[in-house]
Formats: sequence, structure tokens, C-alpha cells
Amino acid sequence: MKHELPKLPYAYDALEPHIDARTMEIHHTKHHAIYVTKLNEALSGHPEIQNKPLEEMLRNIDSVPEDIRGAVRNHGGGHLNHSLFWKIMKSPVQNGGIMSHGKIGQLINQNFGDFQKFREEFNKTALGVFGSGWTWLVVDDAGKLSIISTPNQDSPFMKGLRPILGLDVWEHAYYLKYQNARPEYLKAWWNVVNWKEVENRFNK
Ligand code: MN
Repeated sequence: MKHELPKLPYAYDALEPHIDARTMEIHHTKHHAIYVTKLNEALSGHPEIQNKPLEEMLRNIDSVPEDIRGAVRNHGGGHLNHSLFWKIMKSPVQNGGIMSHGKIGQLINQNFGDFQKFREEFNKTALGVFGSGWTWLVVDDAGKLSIISTPNQDSPFMKGLRPILGLDVWEHAYYLKYQNARPEYLKAWWNVVNWKEVENRFNK
């Protein structure tokens, strides 16, 4: 089984003006595509694990053969992280939005006080990521929500946590439009979060 670059569920310009079309295109066709290619290359030498779901490999990263463990962690993590990232965003004109809603909205309020506090904590965590990485809203086995960050392309699954919302804070995700201004990118990003998809992921 070969891993494939998933199609975006919207056009490259769908997230304008918050995330520009050129960034989306490069991010998808260059950055994400390379993770997929390199993951397939690594797995080609290990037919015995080629059909294992990526999520399972990352949950049990120590049982991945040592010679490709780094590649699965980086490129497999990169593939899975970006596959989530595209889906938890949507066009702001199609009811994307700043506010959570539904059951996940209630749980966020219960866990963090209110939505504003949740967003502040998430932003603070994202601003605190040194270098390249991700910030996540994750669910543990007991159904509890928390905000974490991971370095590089590490997946929350490696810690036994299920990601339901994720923000790519690598500079390649925002540099063309925002240069080094990560706070501006964060502020804009909340406008394109697809809360329906976050809720679907929570309910899985
Ligand atoms: Mn990225």
C-alpha cells in the first residue's frame, strides 16, 4: 500500500485572505508531497509493515524497525499532521469561524473556562513553540481535552493522545504572507477553523 497525497477539500485560494493561495499551494504540493514520497521510500524496504495504518505505527513508534524509525516519525508524522490540518480548515465565507459550537464547544467551555480563555491558552502555547512544530487540541483515553505542542513533525499519537485540532507553526505555513509575525498568522487562522470537522473528530 502506497501512501498518497490527499486532495485538498477546497481550492488553494479558499482560505483567503487569512491564508494566501500561494502558501497553500506550496505547502500542499511541495512540503506535504515530500513527506509522502519519503515515507513511501522508507517503507519500501519493509514490506512487513507497509499495510499498517500510520496512526498505529506512530502510537507504537518504538516497534517500528530502527533503520526507518526516524523516517516514519518525521515523514509519517508530517503526512498525518498535514492530512488533519487541511481538513480542520475551511473557507471563512462558508461558515468557518472564530467560535466553536456544538458539543465540542460545550466541552471547551467546561475545560478551559470559556472560548476566549481556550483561545488564549492555545495561542500562548503556539507562540511558545521554539523553532518548528505544532500546537494541538488533543483528547486522552478518558475523553479529557488538553492543549499541547509537539516539535518538528512529531504526532500526538506518539504520546497516546488523539489530535482533533492542529495548527502548523512551521514558518513554511505562514512566511510568504506574515514573514516572522507568528501572532498575526494565529489571529488570522482562527477565522478558518472548521469546527464541524473538529467535532466529528472528537466523536470518532
Ligand atoms: Mn507544514
